[in-house]
Amino acid sequence: MGNDKGGIQSGQSQARGAVRCKPIDRRQLMLRSVDVERLVEEDHPVRAIWELVGQVDLEPFYEGIGAVEGEAGRPVWDPQLLVSLWIYAYSQGVSSAREISGLCEYHPAYQWLTGLEVVNHHTLSDFRVEHREALDLLFSEVLGVLSHQGLVTLKRVMQDGTKVKASASDKSFRRKATLEKHLALARQQVAQMGDPRSEELSQRVVKARQRALREKRERLEEALRELERMEVSRSKSSEKKEVRASTSDPQARVMLQAKGAYGPGYNVQVSTDAGAKIIVGVGVSQSANDAAELEPGVERVEENLGQEPEQMVVDAGYTNQDSIEAMARREIDLIGALPERKKASWDPLKRRGVRVEFYPEAFRYEVSTDRYTCPAGKELVYETREQHAGWWHYRYRARASDCRACAFQDRCCPGTKKGRSLVRREQTATLVAFQAKMETQEAKEIYKQRAGVAEFPHAWIKEKIGLRQFRLRGLVKVTMEAVWACLTYNICQWIRLCWKPQRLAQASI
Ligand code: SF4
Repeated sequence: MGNDKGGIQSGQSQARGAVRCKPIDRRQLMLRSVDVERLVEEDHPVRAIWELVGQVDLEPFYEGIGAVEGEAGRPVWDPQLLVSLWIYAYSQGVSSAREISGLCEYHPAYQWLTGLEVVNHHTLSDFRVEHREALDLLFSEVLGVLSHQGLVTLKRVMQDGTKVKASASDKSFRRKATLEKHLALARQQVAQMGDPRSEELSQRVVKARQRALREKRERLEEALRELERMEVSRSKSSEKKEVRASTSDPQARVMLQAKGAYGPGYNVQVSTDAGAKIIVGVGVSQSANDAAELEPGVERVEENLGQEPEQMVVDAGYTNQDSIEAMARREIDLIGALPERKKASWDPLKRRGVRVEFYPEAFRYEVSTDRYTCPAGKELVYETREQHAGWWHYRYRARASDCRACAFQDRCCPGTKKGRSLVRREQTATLVAFQAKMETQEAKEIYKQRAGVAEFPHAWIKEKIGLRQFRLRGLVKVTMEAVWACLTYNICQWIRLCWKPQRLAQASI
């Protein structure tokens, strides 16, 4: 047996020779040459991101940079690099500035972008939230490029909302009295803050503590302001409930989230062009439902692309009298489902002691006079009008004196001092036309496509980009975070649908 391996295989009878492995020396220092250009392959998505970001107008990002020609000063990071870094990071599911900074040290794609430099996480973090208008313009600019390449037509846009968790816990919600108590304490602590030079601790530690106290006081003040807003806007049905605001993110609202759980979050509204599933509008709302979100969604699309969609497709959460009328005024073809009327599990008339022979069917309505006549021959005149889920509710009432003197009162309106009332339900002409349209096969076929288009970006943003919970706090910042995610989504679609096929075509020539 002439080698070690053979010696091992038949080692029962022979002495085993030493196995020679290559030594690993981790104490050595090495200098290596790196060809930065070759760190990533030719069709790597990071090249596509850099290329696209380089095509659009980034001037609004440069406007805030103060530089004087001919004077000394530290150069700043190019906004093209910072935008590209954030978009590439989001596309890889990375949304932490600290993590991106770490990746710049060793990850080839990040190294290619930065040319082997490392960008500080403070710089990245500040950049993400400091350019609100510039980010909105960048979103529009990219849509312009996608539109030019035929990926956006606005012929059919589908809108849907999804709840994203806020950076706050359930336990951070406090009632007004508790918030006021905490605020008083925080103000007292801020007032007692002394000169950092007089403290025994290091100035850095003292200043950090002072900043933390100030921020806590500001958040508590904001939470109280939000409580006042909530008290003004809360519905009659919830008037008895005491409102609460979060001390971590006062602008977050408790809403129904995935898997039927309630928690602090925001309602992210996304409008998607049905053709190539490109996001043409993104907004964030504090509303727990989508009832009032359709018209703002259309306005965002118009702001981004300079024109309204020809057709909007939405689910039953959006379709109500107001949104149907609003789309009709704008001459936008609305395709959607009307919410099903829930049948009451109890009979309110029976509960009030009204006998079946005095149910509304026993009252005669006269269109010319807009009045009802009751079984006793008395008139019920129009009193009020209210809107409920796409229907007008017109209330009519009999004179109290007629009912008091009526022999049927104990069967028609027992215990009522104001006189018998009843409600006539009526749909507007626009609603009738909308319902007739939704009965057609064509509208039903279009509506069937809704879930596949409208819910696709939400799934992508949550699964690939990882936006299940916001890192930032406050409506303005979470909106920016949502725009960064949607911008990344659009660029990923552009890479998939345009950039990669073009590269493949070039390579095959
Ligand atoms: S109680 Fe009033 S509404 Fe009812 S039948 Fe008599 S008059 Fe008419």
